[in-house]
Amino acid sequence: MCDRIERLRSTFDQHGLEAMLVTNPINMRYLCGFTGDVGLLLISDEDAVLAVDPRYTEQAKREVGSARVVETREAWADALAALAVDCGLRAVGVESDYVTVDQWNTWRDRLGSATELVPVCGLVARLRTVKSPAEIDRLTAAVALTDEALAAARDWLRPGVTEAEVAWFIEVYIRTHGGEAMAFDPVVGAGPNGAMAHARPGPRPLAPGEPVVIDIGARVDGYCGDLTRTLCLGAPDERFREIYDIVLAAQKAAEAGIRPGMTGKEADALARDVITSAGFGEAFGHGLGHGVGLAIHEDPRLSSRSADILEPGNVVTIEPGIYVEGWGGVRIEDVVMLTESGIEILTRSVKDPYLCA
Ligand code: ZN
Ligand code: ZN
Repeated sequence: MCDRIERLRSTFDQHGLEAMLVTNPINMRYLCGFTGDVGLLLISDEDAVLAVDPRYTEQAKREVGSARVVETREAWADALAALAVDCGLRAVGVESDYVTVDQWNTWRDRLGSATELVPVCGLVARLRTVKSPAEIDRLTAAVALTDEALAAARDWLRPGVTEAEVAWFIEVYIRTHGGEAMAFDPVVGAGPNGAMAHARPGPRPLAPGEPVVIDIGARVDGYCGDLTRTLCLGAPDERFREIYDIVLAAQKAAEAGIRPGMTGKEADALARDVITSAGFGEAFGHGLGHGVGLAIHEDPRLSSRSADILEPGNVVTIEPGIYVEGWGGVRIEDVVMLTESGIEILTRSVKDPYLCA
């Protein structure tokens, strides 16, 4: 993890920083291994120090190798002043996309004119976009467990079980097969509910012939899986066959065409063009995908507004969808890794949507 801290330090000059204060728990974990929720990680050119309160002292000492751990019993602003002002730091970067206005005001008042706080956005997030081989291993494990949970659900699904029961079946499977948590609350949308891209599982029973959108992810060793499949129990209607084939063709076009060097917008267009030319452009209301790692949604973004440039080592989702109010939705989502020449698909779940009723 020392190399991650070095990579962060190498960005200081460009932002006029002498140090960076990191309080977002995911960024703290990425940089120093601390898995607690609260702390101050201050990284300067000469030092890296993690301040924690007594709830976390032992945990931090066990987990953290790349920063000094100090325990603080003072208010956080006082702890920060002790680390920054007393060390003569004049310009400290603060995560402007995470820190609240209240925290900012309190810290600034306490630090006074000796140390200036500099708002910076996404510095650590950008480092996180390129995954190390160890991170790829963890993501692969999270994706594999998610695949396994969906396969088990496919064998078990039958008409009459409710969306909520499907979600619980999958959660139990993941938690009893090595997952430390769900990466996010499962999405299960049966029939018309599937038209809501993030449908919350409820009491609706699964009925034959309807689309069922299932979007799930296991968390393994901190890293998130993310998988969507759309299934149909029994004989589908004509519309299901038509829409499913368009979404699948859009996903295949994206997976065949994505290369490092493309922008997120160009990647998004590979799938969007297929859906638009089939007449469903308006019904694909979200981006094609997103980075995935310690967080379920991270950079780079694949969308019609994204200027992010794709690089080898990025791990992103490819998840086109079509949503029709009153009928339902179809989304198909894989996790893929960018390589030097294209992608490697990490997801293994089958894409045959039809199950016996
Ligand atoms: Zn998903
Ligand atoms: Zn996703």
